[in-house]
Amino acid sequence: MDNNLYDIVVIGGGAAGLTAAQYGSRAGMKVLLVEGSETGGQLNSIPELENYPGLREPVSGFEISKEMESQALKFGAEIKKDFVRMLDKSGSFFSVTGKTQNYHGKTVIIATGAEHKRLGIPGEDEFEGRGVSWCGTCDGPFFKNRKVAVIGGGDTACTEALFLSKIAGKIFLIHRRKDFRAQQFLLDRIQETPNIEIIRDSVPVEITGGQSVTGLKILNNVTGNRENLSVDGVFVFIGIRPRIDLVDALKKDTEGYIITDEKMETSLKGVFCAGDVRSKTFRQVVTACSDGAVAAHWAGEFVMGLNSTKPAI
Ligand code: NAP
Repeated sequence: MDNNLYDIVVIGGGAAGLTAAQYGSRAGMKVLLVEGSETGGQLNSIPELENYPGLREPVSGFEISKEMESQALKFGAEIKKDFVRMLDKSGSFFSVTGKTQNYHGKTVIIATGAEHKRLGIPGEDEFEGRGVSWCGTCDGPFFKNRKVAVIGGGDTACTEALFLSKIAGKIFLIHRRKDFRAQQFLLDRIQETPNIEIIRDSVPVEITGGQSVTGLKILNNVTGNRENLSVDGVFVFIGIRPRIDLVDALKKDTEGYIITDEKMETSLKGVFCAGDVRSKTFRQVVTACSDGAVAAHWAGEFVMGLNSTKPAI
């Protein structure tokens, strides 16, 4: 038998992919998870995860991701570091083309997640890694007692601003509208944090500096006023976009997220999808894990259907 033929090939090693690998292998499937970089995905940049069930005290997303990985390995899943370039159907199986190797799956679970959006303003590319960041956990410690701007009005911006408020001296939380998209309890905490100043109705227009960031120009889109903020860092949390390069042929919603049915099956039979790359309305670690479990369950049923004379359920 082809050693590279798996019952389930999971593409992506974030919360959804790791959960799918764990559920699939625990159900007796031969499972391979392929991840291009480090497992954990967006989990790794969550400083304190406090709304995942069973955690009385918050733990870091990184810690949880390592536990998820160990659990998947314990049940027999294989994890390979490889960058997947292509997915297509070859005969009765799926062919997953990696940068270093090719893999074959009776089913595939796409759990490629999403990536941070960029502002697209002058200075953003130039100062990336020199004051412009998309990860508070990774880069926050460089800004001890300094001034930083956090851009965005969603859960991520607010969670990260709260995390950074424990390290930096002053945070400007800059949102383009008056009302925030973030959950109310996060906003309440923001408002109770003395070193966070909220700047509403404003957008960043240019990041300035020399060796590293020294300032941020903002524009109030109601009054038209411009202001130069003196900051050492700019953290950008303006949302995510799905990683869908592999899968042109699958049905997607208007924002490009992959559409599935309740079994997490995509428009292509045998290809399932889980986590932030999937079209849905509520993106949390727990919903990514839930997607992963459901996808692995139905991928398993699909494999059983292929292996028996009975049709797949
Ligand atoms: P999000 O909910 O899409 O929020 C993005 C924010 O950035 C919005 O406030 C948006 O403004 C603003 N924005 C977008 N483009 C902008 C631009 N070009 N310039 C300035 N501002 C811009 O994204 P997210 O906060 O990353 O969250 C993603 C998903 O993860 C959500 O489903 C969220 O609930 C979830 N999440 C949950 C938690 C948690 O439960 N603890 C933590 C983090 C993330 P508008 O509001 O005007 O559109």
